Amino acid sequence: MYLPQAQAGAVFEKEAHAMQPDFNRLRVFYFIYRQKSVAGAAKRLHVTQSAVSQHLQKLERELKVQLFIRLHKRLVPTAAADQLYRTLQPFVDDLDDVVHDLYRRVSAAIDCTKCANCCKTVRPVLDGGDIKNCSAGLGITPEEFQTEYLKPYDEPGNYVFQKIPCPLLKSDRCSIYRHRPKTCRSYPHLHKEDFVSRLWGVIDNCAVCPIVYNVYEQLKAELWHHGDDDDLFDDFEDIF
Ligand code: SF4
Ligand code: SF4
Repeated sequence: MYLPQAQAGAVFEKEAHAMQPDFNRLRVFYFIYRQKSVAGAAKRLHVTQSAVSQHLQKLERELKVQLFIRLHKRLVPTAAADQLYRTLQPFVDDLDDVVHDLYRRVSAAIDCTKCANCCKTVRPVLDGGDIKNCSAGLGITPEEFQTEYLKPYDEPGNYVFQKIPCPLLKSDRCSIYRHRPKTCRSYPHLHKEDFVSRLWGVIDNCAVCPIVYNVYEQLKAELWHHGDDDDLFDDFEDIF
């Protein structure tokens, strides 16, 4: 049976903190602090400067404290920003390990063969190697596979399926499983490094994949209760 986000959430749910600032905004803060500029953070995060500024303003409103002073084109951290960064940094340093561990635990509890939601809602991007593999799996030529199933995507050599759900999904199973594209093998990509700079993509995938949803929910709980005794928000309250 497909395990929807709400149901999956109940399996792994932990008590939410009533006053948690948005996790994504803390990540934006982290990059602004390191870059000392909105433009630098926007470049690192692959988003607009306006989006970064809005996140910063909202975080300052949530925490009721000024985090940066604008000096010419640089942002100078306040004492509160210094303290917030010192509190966040250990968590961010460990983030990939935490995500990988959560991913192992959550994916062991969710049966992909009873879900297939990614194949129904996400278009994988295929390159030349994938086209060869998939066509071999179907017993047709790469040209036939391309004409029958694919259309060009963003860059030369990249393709996506013409239709969604994926036409190779049969009775909720991939009909070319051993020959499936690299992106399909990798999805939901939580085994990869540098989670913090990929967070926007992860949040998008929360709506698709119960594994991602549950890892993200667990991650928020870990953030606010990192270590044995610490509570991150208690640290904030001590600061401000
Ligand atoms: S190729 Fe297979 S794994 Fe990839 S989207 Fe299609 S059905 Fe799913
Ligand atoms: S990877 Fe996620 S969306 Fe895809 S089948 Fe598994 S649980 Fe479902």
